[in-house]
Order: sequence, then C-alpha cells, then structure tokens
Amino acid sequence: MPDLGSCIPFPLEEEALKEVISKAKDWAIMHGAALRSKVNFSEDSLQFAPFILLPTLFPRREFEKAVRLQPILNELMHWVAHDTEFLRETLSNTIKVDEFTRKLFEIYEKILADKDSTQSYSLGLLRSDLMLESCCTDKDNQRPYCCWKQIEINTIASGFGHLGPISREIQSFVLTELNHADKVKNLPQNNALAGLCEGMIEAWNLKGNPNAAILFIIEDVTYNICDQRFHEFYIRKMHPEIKVIRKTLTEVHQFGSLGPNNELKINDVEVTVVYFRAGYEPGHYPSQNEWDARYVIEKSTAIKCPSISYHLAGTKKVQQALAKPGILKRFITDDIKIKQITDIFTGLYAMDSNTDEGQTALRMVLTDPAKYVLKPQREGGGNNVYGHDIPNALQKMSDVERSAWILMERIFPPISKGYMIRPGGSFPPPLVDLVSELGIFGAVIGDKNAIVYNSHCGHMLRTKLEKSNEGGVAAGSGALDSPYLYDD
Ligand code: ADP
Ligand code: MG
Repeated sequence: MPDLGSCIPFPLEEEALKEVISKAKDWAIMHGAALRSKVNFSEDSLQFAPFILLPTLFPRREFEKAVRLQPILNELMHWVAHDTEFLRETLSNTIKVDEFTRKLFEIYEKILADKDSTQSYSLGLLRSDLMLESCCTDKDNQRPYCCWKQIEINTIASGFGHLGPISREIQSFVLTELNHADKVKNLPQNNALAGLCEGMIEAWNLKGNPNAAILFIIEDVTYNICDQRFHEFYIRKMHPEIKVIRKTLTEVHQFGSLGPNNELKINDVEVTVVYFRAGYEPGHYPSQNEWDARYVIEKSTAIKCPSISYHLAGTKKVQQALAKPGILKRFITDDIKIKQITDIFTGLYAMDSNTDEGQTALRMVLTDPAKYVLKPQREGGGNNVYGHDIPNALQKMSDVERSAWILMERIFPPISKGYMIRPGGSFPPPLVDLVSELGIFGAVIGDKNAIVYNSHCGHMLRTKLEKSNEGGVAAGSGALDSPYLYDD
C-alpha cells in the first residue's frame, strides 16, 4: 500500500516522546477526550480515549470536496426519507428476513396509516463516512494521489460531535509542545459540536414552546459519555432556558405519555425534540416495551432525530439501492449534483437470490472474496464480514437470509505512520501503520414539502491499525485523530 508520510519527521526521540505523551494523556482527560472504562466501569471516573499522537495527512482538495458535498448529501437523504414508495420497494425483501428492520418498518407503516398522527418536521444529524482510495502514485514516487469514497451515511446516533473537535485540540497541543506550532494552521477548524447542537436548538425553536425540553435517548450504560454530555452542556450554556433530559427507551415506556394533541411528555415535562443516541441495534430493545416507547415517540408531535423514515433511509440496503444507475434522479434534479454524488460510490451490490444481479454478485465474491465486505442491516460496528471470511458466512445462510445483506467493494486506503496512544499501552509506543476514516457531519431539517435548514457542520477522523478491519473507538480498535491538510 502507498504511504502518505507524516506531518513531522518520525521517529521521535525517546525522551521527547515520553514527556509529550505524558502531558497529552493528562490534557485528554482534563478536556474530556475520554470514555468510561469498560473494564473498571464507574460513573465516577473517566479514562482518556485512545488517540493518535499527531494528526494524519489528508489531501486538502478531497477534504474540501467532502465538505462541499455534505449539504447535497443532506438533501438526498431528506428526500429519500420522504419517499414512501422507494423505502417500501427497497426494503421489501429485507423486512422478510431481518426482524429489526421489520420492527422499524411496522412502526413506519402504522404511523402512515394513522389518520390522526400529526407528523411535523424531522431533524437529521447525519455523518457521512469516507475513506481515501489511492488512485495512482505520482511519478516522483512521493505521496499517492487519492480520492475519497463513501463507506456509509449514518442517520442515527452519529457520534463524535465532541470527540472530533477535541482531537484537533489535543494534536494542536502536541504539535506546539514539539515546537511545531507553525503547523497547527493545517488542521482545519472543526465546529461539529456547535453545529450539531445548533441543529437541535433550531428544531426546538421551530416548535416554539419555551417550556419544553430536549430528550436524549440513551443506552442503559453509556461508555462514550463525553460525546453526549458536551452536547447537553453546550445547549444549556447557549440557551439556559432549554432543559435536556436523558432517558432509556425502557424509561420512556415507564414515564412517557402522549397529551391530547399527541405532544410527548416525560412525567410532566413536555418534550419537543428527541435525539436518539440509542435505538439503532436490537440490544437496545430488550422487550416489546422499548418498541412501544419508540412508537409513542414516533407518533408524538416532537421533532425526532431521527424519525423512523430517516432511520430506514440510513440502512445499508438503501445505500446499495441508491448506487444503482439512474436512481438518484428520483431525488435530485441537478445533473451536476448527481454526478458529484455518483463519483463517491464504490461498487455496491444486492445479494438477492432471485435476481440476476444477486447471482452475479454471488459469483463475483466467491471468485475473489478479498476484494469485498459483506454487510447486514446493522449499525454500531462489529457486524460486517470481510474478505476470506465471506464464503464461509455465505455458506451458512439460506437464499432468503442472504437477501438481507449487501456486498460492497472493499476500499484499501493509503497508509500513514503514527503513534497510537492507548490506556495501559507500553512505552515507547511502536511506530505503526495506520489507516483512517473521515466523517463529515451535516444537519438538515424539513418535512415532506420542503427543507428549511441545511448545513455542513464539522468533521471527525478515526484511525485504526492497517491490519484491523474496523476502527470503532469505543469498541477499542480505533483511535481519535484529526486531518492534517496538504496540497497536491
Ligand atoms: P457500521 O454501521 O457498523 O458502522 P460500516 O459500514 O460503517 O458499518 O462499517 C464498519 C467499519 O468497517 C467502517 O468504519 C470501516 O472501518 C470498515 N468498512 C466498511 N466498509 C468498508 C469498505 N467498503 N472498505 C473498507 N473498509 C470498510
Ligand atoms: Mg459506520
């Protein structure tokens, strides 16, 4: 794999490394670049989140292209979420076999059939994830020339609104400590936290009830607590009149109700905006109660982030359907925008057994599995099957089960070298081969007739060892990072 190089010469001298790592770890904890420990969990303490000591090179041209594209992707996802026929048709086979998607879909259909339901605006806080792919290495054999490709778009619980911007600050601190303060200007500003919170505040304003709260739907145990509390603290600081409450779906079932006009109440407090940081995986619904709670929220007039339709629009199956030739025209009229979106797609294939396309995809992956990733309709990491594990996984599935999966061409991003600093890590940390995934945030508000708010809001970079398949930070294999832009 081609190598992007590093922002300052490596390796670092051991004495300097020791001092700067020790400071950076303290800086991280003291600024909330932290998680709750999974091993020694306590609500009373935090551990620094794994981070890459220095920022990772990323081509400025591609970064700016991704930022420019985000409002267009927001627009696309908004119209996809509001196209009932498209969602029905696209997910029809999936919901036959995938129980989780089916449960979501049942709520979706029930609300559509309900004459008194008064759906208002929905709020999308999206994160478009992408990886660089090296197209060629220039003739001086310097850096590879890279373009980015889409991994997925998240429409629910898009994390790192706080951890993204704070990663830039840790690395700026480290660069300054190492006498490279002049390089900090190459780390782009990152307003993700403010941007995502402004989206929620905008939604709250649209509802116009000064006494209403914003409800965060949370997991039973929150490890990634800084990435939720900083949102809450930001909202409260900018708007002391807005109260944020946190409840699990189980608690919403216990304490939630609908008022006479379908307003959502938690005990006596009215809620006009609901922000889901849980609810994206089956484990978040241990019983029918949690599904009932999701239905009550959906039926309410509160602005949901996401609404069920946005949640469904974010499934892998929908992503695959959008990559089919000619489909984007249904949602976007401008040909230039369509071309810009099409350029970021990599090969995506249905795995249905009853279509030629599905049969062709099956033959392709069995011939050369290393080139592919097989994905089910799940979020949150750890569910995909990679490369040589695919044939075995496929063999265990019935034809019908297979149709709930999609096949994606694997992206092989360029490598960079760096130091990954983890809690309990040994010293000196080895200089390792790393690959990164950039996430661009967007906020969009609208209803079936119009989009009333559409903005790009910041970014996050996650970096993992080149050898690992996935790079979830809370899951333990990835680390916080931020892009260091270079011109090519
Ligand atoms: P999830 O919804 O679980 O986050 P993703 O589609 O984002 O699922 O995949 C999880 C991780 O797997 C990504 O963050 C990325 O590291 C890796 N991955 C997914 N698709 C690809 C691909 N096509 N090529 C290379 N890596 C991929
Ligand atoms: Mg993902």
